[in-house]
Amino acid sequence: MNLLKNLNLGKLKSGLSNTRNKIYNSINEALTGKAVIDENTLDRIEEILITSDIGAGTTEKIIENARIALKTEKDRTNINIIESIKSELGSILKECNALNKNGNDIDKFKPYVVLVVGVNGVGKTTTIGKLAHNYKKSGLKVIVGAADTFRAAANEQLDIWANRAGVEILQKDKGSDPSSVAFDVITKGINEKYDVVLIDTAGRLHNKSELMDELRKLRKAIQKQLNYAPNETLLVIDANTGQNVLIQADEFNHVTKIDGLVVTKLDGTAKGGVIFQLCSQIKIPVKYIGVGEGIDDLQFFDPESFISAIFNSK
Ligand code: GDP
Ligand code: MG
Repeated sequence: MNLLKNLNLGKLKSGLSNTRNKIYNSINEALTGKAVIDENTLDRIEEILITSDIGAGTTEKIIENARIALKTEKDRTNINIIESIKSELGSILKECNALNKNGNDIDKFKPYVVLVVGVNGVGKTTTIGKLAHNYKKSGLKVIVGAADTFRAAANEQLDIWANRAGVEILQKDKGSDPSSVAFDVITKGINEKYDVVLIDTAGRLHNKSELMDELRKLRKAIQKQLNYAPNETLLVIDANTGQNVLIQADEFNHVTKIDGLVVTKLDGTAKGGVIFQLCSQIKIPVKYIGVGEGIDDLQFFDPESFISAIFNSK
């Protein structure tokens, strides 16, 4: 099933305008008026890449490859250097995206269970709302489970999204055991033949180890009931997080195996380069990206479109 191939290049381009400014426009500026690329210009490009959240290792590799690609005077043109950077960044995304295996087997499992995790405020609940909308639009019967029982407002917020998406919700009182919400929503999912069960979780408890313990328990409860589930565990990451992204991904991946990343708030940030860092360091595919607060603002992550949007190409 060709699900969630939600791609809107115009929206992606406008959403990524700050990141494009930071990466592509700055590099272009550094190259302006230079007939031949010298070492000083390469140093300047290195500095631009480092401050674009791409990561030190990746930047080093790009600059090294650019040096190799630009062996002779003749090769050292603006177009060649841009192409060399673009191709290096593109291959990082493609390599990582090749690991993106799930999502295609949604019609083989009923219900198909998606668990959404991440720290507080990154956009988990919003992403669930957008996902529910997309699945519903594809003609599937969808229910969301409100397993963030820590905050009183969490139920209400998910309820608003379920209404917007026109899907069912299962919620319990604040303070209920999140695992019991998972149990109930999966039971309902099985009994009432839902196609998709989306489970929202808390991003903050009294402390971090409690949060991780709770997630471990939640995953176990899901597995106990449906041994193949969760089909996907998505980690939501706010693009503005900065260097902390790698630590966050590591911590969550340690307690509950992460199948895919959702990188949110790419609109309005200049830190979209973080996707390259995530891909090269974490080796977990980016599955979706958030480019706005609206219900239609979740896009399937497509490496080629992402590179085109950053490099301003058609
Ligand atoms: P949670 O605590 O992880 O559940 O985060 P929420 O879903 O409550 O989102 C926190 C804030 O981030 C809300 O104000 C959302 O509107 C906002 N948000 C989520 N995704 C995006 C996005 O892709 N772009 C923008 N601009 N805002 C987003
Ligand atoms: Mg939430």
